[in-house]
Amino acid sequence: MTKQTLKSKLTQLHPVQLGHLNTPLDPLPRLSKALGGPEMWVKRDDMTGLATGGNKVRKLNFVLADMLQHKPDLVLTAGGLQSNQARQTAAACSILGMPCTLVLAGEEPQEHAQGNYLLDQLVDASFVWAGDTTVKEALENEAARQRAAGKNAYVVPFGASNDLGVCGYVAAFIELLEQCENLNLSFDDIVLASGSGGTQAGLALAAALLNSPIRIFGISIIEPATVLQQEIARLANAAALLLGLDIRLTPDQFPVNADYLGGGYGVMGDLERESIRLTARTEGIILDPVYTGRAMGALIDLVRKSCFAPGERVLFWHTGGLPAVFEYAGQLTQGSE
Ligand SMILES: *Cc1c(COP(=O)(O)O)cnc(C)c1O
Repeated sequence: MTKQTLKSKLTQLHPVQLGHLNTPLDPLPRLSKALGGPEMWVKRDDMTGLATGGNKVRKLNFVLADMLQHKPDLVLTAGGLQSNQARQTAAACSILGMPCTLVLAGEEPQEHAQGNYLLDQLVDASFVWAGDTTVKEALENEAARQRAAGKNAYVVPFGASNDLGVCGYVAAFIELLEQCENLNLSFDDIVLASGSGGTQAGLALAAALLNSPIRIFGISIIEPATVLQQEIARLANAAALLLGLDIRLTPDQFPVNADYLGGGYGVMGDLERESIRLTARTEGIILDPVYTGRAMGALIDLVRKSCFAPGERVLFWHTGGLPAVFEYAGQLTQGSE
């Protein structure tokens, strides 16, 4: 199919236009030189806006268009204390004039609010604490409570990853192709952090539909490879169905590397710390400890292991996460170089 046909399918969903798009596509000459590997570039989705930026903005453009059609009384979503998705959703809701309640893991912190949680407060979100229950259960309980009180609550799913959210990254892939055309440039590989899988699902679905030869590698942040690949396939197929497209993808069409899970979700190790420092020192770009630091750490390791040919051109998709840096401040400045 052509880009134009795919674009018109996306337009039919009437996405809202939040955030700053297109995001910059920049070379990383100093980092490439420091590593002595392939030519590296970055797609700056950390600059999408909504109380800093991140990959949820593109997903929310489609999810919140659906939300507006439902005319709810409030928006509900859930995540960890440092959820980027919760912060971007709350910021979007303040633009749209929609009350937003965040269901966050654990108990209300006693110390100063920091990182994403501080920004959540500034954009005037309300909070419900999951306490001992899982965040998923707490979200369901809060939705039921609101409905019992006669309120129509619209729930934004975890990671804003559903069929609608995935469309944001179908659109993002088209944006990339157009930037490449203008620069007379092509990429061999894209490397990105894959959490719930929605971002990778959208990019890979678009690549498949448009017959692009770009290889898209997800670095798993949470799940074993097979689990994540199945989830990505499920999301990509749901988005294809939503767009009325006759294509079914299988888990093996979504390469995932789960060798860099380290100490687990949100545990920053040497891999993340070193990649954050190296990227900051060479290019002045800040990665985050949970997602992009881990994905860039993986990319750096793969470059050092000569997994990319020297002539290849590799794009690192920066998915955001800046506010979490401040939460990890102590751990980022300690330790060896
Ligand atoms: C949510 C998030 C991701 C993961 O995106 P998925 O679509 O859930 O795979 C990656 N990086 C950052 C900074 C995020 O906030």
